[in-house]
Amino acid sequence: MTDADAAPSSVGVVVVAAGSGSRLGADLPKAFVHLAGRPLLAHALDTIARMPGRAEVVVVAPAGLTDPGGPLWSGVVLPAGAVVVPGGAERTDSVAAGMAALGQGCEIVLVHDAARCLMPLAVFSRVVEAVRAGAAGAVPGLPVVDTVKTVDAAGVITGTPERSTLRAVQTPQGFRREVLERAHASGLQATDDAALVELCGDDVVVVEGDPLGAKVTTADDLERAQWLLDRAATLGE
Ligand code: C5P
Repeated sequence: MTDADAAPSSVGVVVVAAGSGSRLGADLPKAFVHLAGRPLLAHALDTIARMPGRAEVVVVAPAGLTDPGGPLWSGVVLPAGAVVVPGGAERTDSVAAGMAALGQGCEIVLVHDAARCLMPLAVFSRVVEAVRAGAAGAVPGLPVVDTVKTVDAAGVITGTPERSTLRAVQTPQGFRREVLERAHASGLQATDDAALVELCGDDVVVVEGDPLGAKVTTADDLERAQWLLDRAATLGE
């Protein structure tokens, strides 16, 4: 019997929502900015609540905003049993805080940016299935359409990676729990968890992502997300 044939492992989802969102220009943390009348975090949790099986959910919120009864939380429906913990100064710190709050039964950990609030459920399933099938880690990714350059501090181009080898990666990023814990124990910081795991020498596979899972970072992104929701409503999706 292979790992993939074994009983499904239980999944923990760490939703990181503790960022300041300064690039959005809002006067409140990004995860609490409204899209269609509800916080971005609410939209992300709606999808996570529909995951099949026994996903355990930890929401990592800005310190001082961890009371789900607080006014900024209006419109957020926490999945059953979800807990809220305070985040840290860097994204990596927030992920570590979330992971520490997961029950021991979680063998697979997904880390998801609340700011990727419209990521479809199918992508969560793809990531979980890849880890259940034996990958140490799995992340959603999309082909890159632009030609990407590396530059030095003066802005001079130092290289042009072959475009066909590039992927723009998203979240949820899923890992066997011990793999992610080892990566975080390294004490390194990175803008995503896959980078930490790669640095520890574990293989991470890329599964198909979805443009709907684009991160809301700027005011333009927020407008685009609103347009996507309006279009979905018009099409009855
Ligand atoms: O800053 P960035 O857009 O990369 O943030 C990605 C996600 O990580 C967001 O959902 C944000 O709320 C979260 N984050 C966090 N704690 C931090 C920084 C970012 O939870 N210190």
